[in-house]
Amino acid sequence: MSQTPEKKRKRKKKTKQTITRALTHIRLIEANPGKLRALDQLVSVYLMLCQQYVTLFCTEVDPDKYATPVFETELSDRGHRVAIQQAAGIAKSWRTNRANAYEAYLEAVSDWKLAQEVEATPKRKEPEWCEWNIPELRVPCIQANVNVVVVEPSEDSTFDYWLRISTLDKGHPLRVPVKLASYHRKALEGHTLNTSTTLHKRKGIWWLTLSFDEDVPLQTASSPLPVGVDVGIANFVTTSTGRQYGSFHGKLRTRQKHDREKRRRKAKLRACLKKKGREKLPSTSSASGQRLARHVRQSINRAVNQMMTDHPNARIVYEDLSVASMRFKAKAMNAYLYASNLAHIPEQLAWATARRGMEAYTVKAAYSSQECHCCHYADRANRPDQSTFRCIVCHYSDHADHNAAANLAQRFGDKELAVCKNKGEVKALLLQRHDAWKKQHRLTVVEPPVQLGLWGDSGASTDVG
Ligand SMILES: [Zn+2]
Repeated sequence: MSQTPEKKRKRKKKTKQTITRALTHIRLIEANPGKLRALDQLVSVYLMLCQQYVTLFCTEVDPDKYATPVFETELSDRGHRVAIQQAAGIAKSWRTNRANAYEAYLEAVSDWKLAQEVEATPKRKEPEWCEWNIPELRVPCIQANVNVVVVEPSEDSTFDYWLRISTLDKGHPLRVPVKLASYHRKALEGHTLNTSTTLHKRKGIWWLTLSFDEDVPLQTASSPLPVGVDVGIANFVTTSTGRQYGSFHGKLRTRQKHDREKRRRKAKLRACLKKKGREKLPSTSSASGQRLARHVRQSINRAVNQMMTDHPNARIVYEDLSVASMRFKAKAMNAYLYASNLAHIPEQLAWATARRGMEAYTVKAAYSSQECHCCHYADRANRPDQSTFRCIVCHYSDHADHNAAANLAQRFGDKELAVCKNKGEVKALLLQRHDAWKKQHRLTVVEPPVQLGLWGDSGASTDVG
């Protein structure tokens, strides 16, 4: 390839991207129970070590995959390293989530203080911070690499693979046969397995997860239209093109209410039994609760997929949001959040766009639901209720979710906004834009603004009137 002297280098356009797909629910069947017992022994030692590092990484030192081993164990050095890596991964995401939640809490406090100054009779309670518990590893699980677990193709036709697992007994690896289901084989066709494997045990049964990489051709529409996607509870997904998909209201909400009452009753019973000194307490998780969560996830998936089908040549722009930060936005919605599993929506958006080779971007979410799409004025007062947006300055009105989706679409490629470091800087930028809008529109505004003081000294009301 030749280059022009001005060093004008064109970035090579990506034509494909690689996604990793998982083959889950591969049950380990083993006629010889002694083998799986050896696996049990290995995992109990492994889990204990992993937990020690999780606690260390969450409390004292920064999570580091390459950290120097500090605990004693029967495991080999390689097994020890795998435990450190797994613990570092768990601790890292725990720390990130906690930090995000704490930041959201601080913002909620400053919002609350502002509201205290404005409102004569404060309605809201001051947000409280609840310290997070250190993650506790309950499900026996090994996220292994080729150093401890090797997947070997099987020579005979009874099984698909052999799993060679290094055990506590050095030099005597465990060999466990692996049989794939036909849908696993179909998914894997034409691909090569990755070397990382996950083993976990649930209700006495060992399960294996394998993965493989797949190249997905990128869609090459000449100039895809940015479509903003707002994520919410009333409507799972609202697009800037004015469409809505899925909802937590109606049937799902009724089911969630029942589930919540059931959990409350169970919790009461537990407390009562605990008082009486009973040692074995009933669990608060329920099969129906898990079914409900699964049902919500399926509804979300359906909503996201339908949205993608309706917008084939779009560039999807959605909020960079964490559920931890949403938790402080609406206290009453907390219970819904639990069931609606809101975090699953952005995950599903990311996955569904990647799988289709569609372009997807996240943008800053700050004030996207309070900002007026027309004049950029951002204020809580622009939202008289959950579903309505009505700008108190320019009187622009819209469905609240649609206004937010339109703002998100507009934020795509907005470099000034992207460099803002916190919510305060975003607010200042929006105010600047609102001022610019006022200057541009000062002559067309005839009515004086409802609320005095909003227009500043050079406001339209003085100039025009
Ligand atoms: Zn406005």
